[in-house]
Amino acid sequence: MKKRLDQLLSSLGYCSRKDVRKLIAMGIVTVEGESRIKPETKVTHEIVRFDGEPLDPPQGMVILMHKPVGVVCSHDDGEGKLVYDLLPNRWRLRSPKLSTVGRLDKETSGLLLITDDGKLIHALTSPRKKVAKRYEATLAQPLTGEEKALFASGTLMLNGEKTPCLPARLEEGDGIHVALEITEGRYHQVRRMFAAAGNHVNALHRSRMGTLELGELQAGEFRILSPEEIARCS
Ligand code: URA
Repeated sequence: MKKRLDQLLSSLGYCSRKDVRKLIAMGIVTVEGESRIKPETKVTHEIVRFDGEPLDPPQGMVILMHKPVGVVCSHDDGEGKLVYDLLPNRWRLRSPKLSTVGRLDKETSGLLLITDDGKLIHALTSPRKKVAKRYEATLAQPLTGEEKALFASGTLMLNGEKTPCLPARLEEGDGIHVALEITEGRYHQVRRMFAAAGNHVNALHRSRMGTLELGELQAGEFRILSPEEIARCS
């Protein structure tokens, strides 16, 4: 779909619509290699270069991040270092805005998706879709042996909630290092499930969401998903 060049660049956060003219004059923006262009020129995304580089993906971008411990899934600067601070600055200016697909709490690390696609956020967070999320937890105390059946039963009630948790699959590991797969995304769910079972989670890491894994990504790193990966996970 064709868009005005100034609209396209400002929606991707490269500059304000007002500044496009200056960037064209400086030769920073080209269309099919041509620098004698106008802000109102209608273009498709693929034929524009910024500083000689192809543009960031258009609307529908999905970012896979390895969230480190200590950063917050929020747009509110007052809450400390944000996951958005780990991304290029201009991505904060994109419209529509980027948001996390659900949240990981500040002390939890691991796989986090960030996108500007509201429909995808809904599809991946709706409890009806039952997207499996795998968490690796380090517990304060060894399992008693009763947790696996309790979590699988679909009867576990969390403090302050009206409905029980959907059945969840516990891998008991060595009793301290365990893995839990859940299909919901209630507030602090994994920590609260272990609390309901009389235990405490000392460290928590999300290693998988649906078909997606972190692969080689180190804490703080991210990559853009390919259209094929997006189709597979939605
Ligand atoms: N469960 C939690 O307790 N915390 C998270 O961040 C995610 C799931």
